[in-house]
Amino acid sequence: MNSKSAEHYLDHNASTLVRPESLEAFVEYSKTLGANPSALHRPGRRAQGVLESARDKMAELLGCRAKQVVFTASATEANNLAILGAVKGLGRLNGEKPQLITSLSEHPAVTGPMRALQRQGYDLRLLGLDRHGRASAAEAHELLERRPSVIAIQWANNETGAIQKIESIAAMQGHSSHFHCDAVQGFGKLELNSTLQNCSSYSLSGHKLGAPIGVGALILGDDAILDACFFGGGHQNGIRPGTESPALAAALTVALELALSEQKTCAKEMQKARKLFLDEIKLAIPDVVCNHPKTDCLPNTLSLSFPGIDGRLLLPALDAEGIAASSGSACSSGAPQASAILRACGISSDLARATLRFSFGRDSSLQLAKVQAQLCAQIISRVYKLANT
Ligand code: PLP
Repeated sequence: MNSKSAEHYLDHNASTLVRPESLEAFVEYSKTLGANPSALHRPGRRAQGVLESARDKMAELLGCRAKQVVFTASATEANNLAILGAVKGLGRLNGEKPQLITSLSEHPAVTGPMRALQRQGYDLRLLGLDRHGRASAAEAHELLERRPSVIAIQWANNETGAIQKIESIAAMQGHSSHFHCDAVQGFGKLELNSTLQNCSSYSLSGHKLGAPIGVGALILGDDAILDACFFGGGHQNGIRPGTESPALAAALTVALELALSEQKTCAKEMQKARKLFLDEIKLAIPDVVCNHPKTDCLPNTLSLSFPGIDGRLLLPALDAEGIAASSGSACSSGAPQASAILRACGISSDLARATLRFSFGRDSSLQLAKVQAQLCAQIISRVYKLANT
């Protein structure tokens, strides 16, 4: 049983346990490399060697060149670098402010910089969502035809699991636009295809795929125009100044390689576990409403609403019995407001508040999923009884 602090950990979209191999690389290099990788002495060159080998390996795994890999501390940082840097770069080249396009399903790591730019006078367009959290590609196409744009659309949604139509958006962006993809939720769950390579940039997060917390990456496309937004010692071509961590870069690479090689098998197992879990819940609570799409969905994600329940009771009741789930995105767990993403899917505030996200990890199995579903069903049924007394 993979557990962070609870007995049954079903919150892998928020974070997942570090892989032993990744941790081992981190510890090993933290112990043996004590130098700054930019230093010119031998220990410094050794640290730089480890850092650059990690960059080379990342490039090999992702099908790009080493100089296109920018290590960051998180995907939040990578998304900010991409959006703010592309806006600056395109504005400089075209002599006018690019329009901004994103969707209501994006994580705050994308909507945050977009909204900040809007406050500075940029024109921000937000694509609407369908009932299951899919952004409208047709709307994106229409907007992209009008003006040079910085557009950011995620690979898959962290709350409903909806896979976005990034192929069609990537295919139609013009030379004067920048298409950034927040690819955080796809790695290790979805097959890596050439679509990401057609994006101007994309981000990934270490702790979602089995690396330690504190490392991520921004991958730049061949023709990405990105101006620096932070200034310092000029590391990583000036895009992300600051001393890099060779140990974290190596740990990320190890985790990514495992996540990619295990993806197919893991996805199958997660999908089976998810199905069985849902069948058990439906059996006990036939009124349950599914917010995750039936097709084109992350294989590990269930978004379930329980009509007629006071949503504030759900998570604490599960937590008390050792089930760790989420009521929305990790950042808003425990917050009393209804999830903005679910609201944008057209779900009422009450129903959005009575929603749980269960996300399975690489440890999932049918046996475990059955136990977990039965336990969840018992607890949720109890909350229903309380609501009706
Ligand atoms: N993007 C998505 C879709 C996410 O789910 C998350 C984390 O929940 C992030 C970005 C932020 O990643 P990080 O924790 O590495 O900043």
